[in-house]
Amino acid sequence: MANERSLILFKPDAVQRRLCGELLSRIEKRGLKIVGLKMLMVTKELSAQHYAEHVEKPFYPLLEEFITSGPVVALVVEGPEAISVMRTMMGSTNGRESDLGTIRGDFGLSRQMNLIHGSDGPEAAAREIPIYFRPEELIEYETTLAGWVC
Ligand code: ADP
Ligand code: MG
Repeated sequence: MANERSLILFKPDAVQRRLCGELLSRIEKRGLKIVGLKMLMVTKELSAQHYAEHVEKPFYPLLEEFITSGPVVALVVEGPEAISVMRTMMGSTNGRESDLGTIRGDFGLSRQMNLIHGSDGPEAAAREIPIYFRPEELIEYETTLAGWVC
């Protein structure tokens, strides 16, 4: 069981819809540990860096417009298999096709304004975390409940 870190964004629609607390609550209740947290505006440059794999795709101009449209909340979460645990909690890309009980399935109908980003694998997490956080912004700490998710 790998202890992993994942880069999570609450996208502009989550901030606009006042859903950040709901999303953070789900992540905390699941047992993941928050090791980094900030609000920021995604610039066009940051968007192109983050979504490098999508820059040439037909939907990228709309994705760029959306992701730069307002503040996002960026987090790094840590825990056992945190990357796949978060992807499962998020649901599939298109909210209309996401299972009920997932974040995207419970709160959205859009394949673009789908509330949340989560790294899709260990390589993606290793690439994405430094895009949003300097090393000193990630806090190492013990929790008294550390054993309950083993
Ligand atoms: P995921 O966020 O589930 O990993 P992708 O990596 O495929 O999904 O796409 C990145 C983001 O780009 C999506 O979360 C969504 O906001 C947007 N997106 C993906 N596909 C489309 C599409 N066909 N039309 C509009 N926006 C899209
Ligand atoms: Mg992706």
